[in-house]
Amino acid sequence: MKLRVLVLGAGFGGLELTSILSDALGENLDLTLIDKSDSFIFGFSKLDVMFGRTTTDAARVYYRHIVKPGVRFARESITAIDPAMKRVTTDKGTYDADVLVVALGADYDPGATPGLLEGGNEFYSVEGAERLREILPAFSKGNAIVGVTSTPFKCPPAPSEAALLLHDYLVKRGVRDACTISLVIPFGIPIPPSPATSQALLTAFSERGIIFVKDRLIRSLDPGRHVAILDDGVELPYDLFLGIPKHRVPEVVAKSGMTENGWIPVDKHTLRTKYPGVYAVGDVTSVGTPKAGVFAETAARIVAASLIAEFRSGAGPAPYRGDGSCYIEFGGELVGRVDVDFFSGAKPAGSFTEPSVAIVEEKKVFGSSRRSRWFGL
Ligand SMILES: Cc1cc2nc3c(=O)[nH]c(=O)nc-3n(C[C@H](O)[C@H](O)[C@H](O)COP(=O)(O)OP(=O)(O)OC[C@H]3O[C@@H](n4cnc5c(N)ncnc54)[C@H](O)[C@@H]3O)c2cc1C
Repeated sequence: MKLRVLVLGAGFGGLELTSILSDALGENLDLTLIDKSDSFIFGFSKLDVMFGRTTTDAARVYYRHIVKPGVRFARESITAIDPAMKRVTTDKGTYDADVLVVALGADYDPGATPGLLEGGNEFYSVEGAERLREILPAFSKGNAIVGVTSTPFKCPPAPSEAALLLHDYLVKRGVRDACTISLVIPFGIPIPPSPATSQALLTAFSERGIIFVKDRLIRSLDPGRHVAILDDGVELPYDLFLGIPKHRVPEVVAKSGMTENGWIPVDKHTLRTKYPGVYAVGDVTSVGTPKAGVFAETAARIVAASLIAEFRSGAGPAPYRGDGSCYIEFGGELVGRVDVDFFSGAKPAGSFTEPSVAIVEEKKVFGSSRRSRWFGL
């Protein structure tokens, strides 16, 4: 008897789950991994694309490289999910499974913020990052804002990283003194579970003259007057707006009836949904960790361990800890790290590792180890 698994979405969660199941079960696995795209791209590569440190082509890793025992990759667009029947429809056919794992990530809704499409930019999509790579060279004086428009949003350190990298970019071009940089985020400190990481970021902002606007969201832009309007009505002038757009589940997930308050609820210890045999991991859930690839990965490891245990009639894994390590670009070509655990203690706890060249190398290994584990490259 083979384990028949359908994995929806080949991002951090889907790729990690697929790799572990294939390694453990080999030909006892009958897994179909479905994604509409032909390639994967790390979220952090979008910052590199926007600041011209790499190209999208160089950053893409193609799914055609996935050759794993018991695994078939299907490049198809998922059009319907029936969680009660564990049946999935795509633009090419219909699939049934014993186990269904939804790992479809989060989509963006830039149109939800008035003025953002007309008068601003976002750097969270590949297209947005590519557009900014063309726009940034023309920005030589005036006010830049990096601003969050809505919660939840992916990778909470990313807005801080964007502000610090923008500083470096403007310094390198010799125009920093003619520009201001403001960072608008909805938290009191940059990384709430880790006061030490937050303090290091606040120090980095103050050393570079980056204005930190805490506890605020961008409500709208008025492109005619070149002002961003915050959720308390305060207006900030801008000449360059780098936005974090509103996030939402992909349309097909919304239509499936699996969501509550916009996201798929799961048991935070097991990642099970309320439908038997159906799990959800990563950004598409409301599990209680931030939306980041490293948490999608650790969630996928728990699901993989419990499926393997069930298949072998063995003991299941320990409860999910909601743990992950995020790399943070501090500028000056240095990277720091925050290690966070959301569920083990009474409240989320994080520890900080100072920015260093050693962590720059560690981040590179993070990327290359995934290329190797997921794609055999
Ligand atoms: C600027 C930026 C920087 C970031 N930096 C980091 C970082 O340093 N560390 C970190 O851990 N995270 C980072 N992230 C966040 C990270 O990219 C996401 O949280 C992560 O990709 C989520 O993984 P996932 O598996 O849940 O979904 P995803 O990786 O988004 O994968 C979902 C997949 O589902 C597919 N899909 C969606 N709808 C359909 C459909 N209808 N049919 C078929 N396929 C579909 C998509 O094509 C996609 O491949 C960053 C994000 C951004 C934007």
